[in-house]
Amino acid sequence: MMNEKQLKNLVKNNIRQLKPYSAKEIKCSIKLDGNESPYALSSAFVKKALSLPLNRYPDPEAKALRKEISKDAGITPDMIICGNGSDELISCLIATFGGPVLYPVPTFSMYSIISRTLDEECIGIPLNAEFDLDEDKMLQAIKKSRPKLIFLSTPNNPTGNCFSSDVILKIIRASKGIVVVDEAYQPFASDRGFMPMLKDFPNLVILRTLSKIGFAGLRTGYAAASPVIINELNKVRLPYNVNSLSQASAVEGLKQKKEIRLNIKKIVSERERLFNGLCSISGIETFPSEANFILFKTRSADAVYSNLLKRGILIKNLSSSIKGCLRVTVGTEKENTAFLKALGIITKNQSAKNRQEA
Ligand code: PMP
Repeated sequence: MMNEKQLKNLVKNNIRQLKPYSAKEIKCSIKLDGNESPYALSSAFVKKALSLPLNRYPDPEAKALRKEISKDAGITPDMIICGNGSDELISCLIATFGGPVLYPVPTFSMYSIISRTLDEECIGIPLNAEFDLDEDKMLQAIKKSRPKLIFLSTPNNPTGNCFSSDVILKIIRASKGIVVVDEAYQPFASDRGFMPMLKDFPNLVILRTLSKIGFAGLRTGYAAASPVIINELNKVRLPYNVNSLSQASAVEGLKQKKEIRLNIKKIVSERERLFNGLCSISGIETFPSEANFILFKTRSADAVYSNLLKRGILIKNLSSSIKGCLRVTVGTEKENTAFLKALGIITKNQSAKNRQEA
């Protein structure tokens, strides 16, 4: 019988070195760590989905869903591919085009995780002090490494800001590979995003997701690009990647346009209140956000994180990748108020403790 070591030796080298993506369930009463919407939309439409014949495979081409998305996105269905979350499409893109894969850092961790699982070279270029793209360094890296793929999350997770559009355009023009503009958080941003640019740039791919606007449980995202690129991605996509329940629910869910828009408006206005609240707490540096979360810096991120958790409030501790930083997702008015109150008390207690120790 094989022992554990022999089994591990069977695993490909690049996989053996990785750690599983940590999405541990941590008990809490206020969940502000996952960048989900705090508002559950009416799910009455799911009843309709439940009447589907589940003995049959889903539509492999997700035709009805692509048609519904195309109305919102203002593009034709042949420019759309749906995925089991946009995560799956990041994987399809890397499997299709390969590396080197270039992205600014810090950014969404899946670009590097998926590149490494697919054994593709990845190159991270640090953002500048304002968390914007470092134009010179990005253009130099494009020239030197000729990346097959560039991922730009705008608004960027976890910093929250949008990158300068003119630098993004320079990157798209300079790149001899594919540039993926990941607009997971675009619904919360003040600009229009890059969808209208698809007609001008054949190497541009836009990623969008339903996860942030109220449907994270459906695991549905999409990529928009020229039909040529979509056709290549379809060669890599698994045949029935979006299940019947998600397809039917997403079609109906997306029809709740008024509610979706209203919830986005509420999140944006709560984000401003949360931002002002954070700015008024001494010892905290808050970074402006165009997304549904806010990044902030404290003197002792680990202690703030665990003290919040003791009070039942879960946020994201990013201090291992961005010194002293934590990320809070915008919740409901009540949740944000409870978070600000708890954070105020925790930081006050900490500065009193620091003074005593000094
Ligand atoms: N892109 C970015 C920038 C994200 O932050 C996320 C989710 N955290 C995703 C893509 C993936 O979203 P999903 O797979 O839920 O569609």
